[in-house]
Amino acid sequence: MTRQRSTSYHREVSSRNVEAILDAAEELLRQEGHATISAVAAEAGVSRVTVYAHFPTWEALLEAAVERAVQRVMAALEEAHPEDGPPVEALERVLARGWQHLAGYQAMAEAVAELLTPEAVTRTHQAAHRTIASLLARGQADGSFRTDLPADWLVHATIALIHTCNDGVRAGRIDPGDALRILTTSIRDLFTGARGRRLSGCPWTSSDLALPTVQPLTEQEIRAAFVNCSKGEAKRLNVPHDLASRPWDDLDFLGWRDPQAPERAYLVARAGGRPVAIRLRCPAPSHGQRRSTMCSICMTTHAGGVSLMVAALSGSAGQQGNSVGTYICSDLDCSLYTRGKKVTASSTRLPEPLSLEEKIERNVANLGAFIAKVTG
Ligand SMILES: [Zn+2]
Repeated sequence: MTRQRSTSYHREVSSRNVEAILDAAEELLRQEGHATISAVAAEAGVSRVTVYAHFPTWEALLEAAVERAVQRVMAALEEAHPEDGPPVEALERVLARGWQHLAGYQAMAEAVAELLTPEAVTRTHQAAHRTIASLLARGQADGSFRTDLPADWLVHATIALIHTCNDGVRAGRIDPGDALRILTTSIRDLFTGARGRRLSGCPWTSSDLALPTVQPLTEQEIRAAFVNCSKGEAKRLNVPHDLASRPWDDLDFLGWRDPQAPERAYLVARAGGRPVAIRLRCPAPSHGQRRSTMCSICMTTHAGGVSLMVAALSGSAGQQGNSVGTYICSDLDCSLYTRGKKVTASSTRLPEPLSLEEKIERNVANLGAFIAKVTG
């Protein structure tokens, strides 16, 4: 009994000593930019022998101090709830919180860069690896983050970018006021590829909007996605029978005319991480009408091939008769015109200094802005 109590007393003293030693090392690095075992012992109020009993070398002491610092930063990150909400936003929150806490560890980061081996740096950053890896996995599962690069590489690259940004601030290459923006943009683009940028005039990112190309929609999913007609109408309307053979890889959205009701058209896109389908009213294609009009989604001009499509607003606003209209390619094949996979005698596209990817992003933004007006 006595021996047990005394063992636990020793353990308590010992762990208090370890904390005091690590505090002292952290404080000396912050104030002086360097430290020795003797200085740490003096600052912590323990003997050098005690320090050596816990940490045989300065490197071992520094490694333990770094590991504790990383764990503290990670504890702060948990408060940003990386497990909640859209992964891109969670990533932005986590980086903002992490950056705020990293500021206190500049001197330690410098000592780490000089003294610790790459293996020790990896070892001490295990907690950071786990947090970033699980956020990455969550975003990969819901299509927000890229899957074309190894996850391990993305996690290591993130930690390296954080350190590089920290180094840049310390060396005066990066304005401290701009550092978080630079870091967040770099890591978000690294995780999302081209898909995650916020699009102007549209509440979603392009990854929220683009149809999941590897994951074509089923009839059932499409019917469940209608936001501006009744459930009964959504159940009865004509959904294409050839969904399986649609060129999903080339579609920014799926759009079709109702073969039995020429004044009806429909479109479905992915918005806010889920499919959103919209019922449209449009005049039947008129053979007499040859005026050139530009599609406001894909910017293709057609002589007679663009229709004013009108969507009832969703919810009670729509039931009261409110609607919103926009000019769209009458065949709703905007995605194919954009990619040059469909050309008609009357369709023309202005040469523009934009990459295909930028044009696709613009389609997605234009459509997203329209969907946002419908859904309010
Ligand atoms: Zn179009």
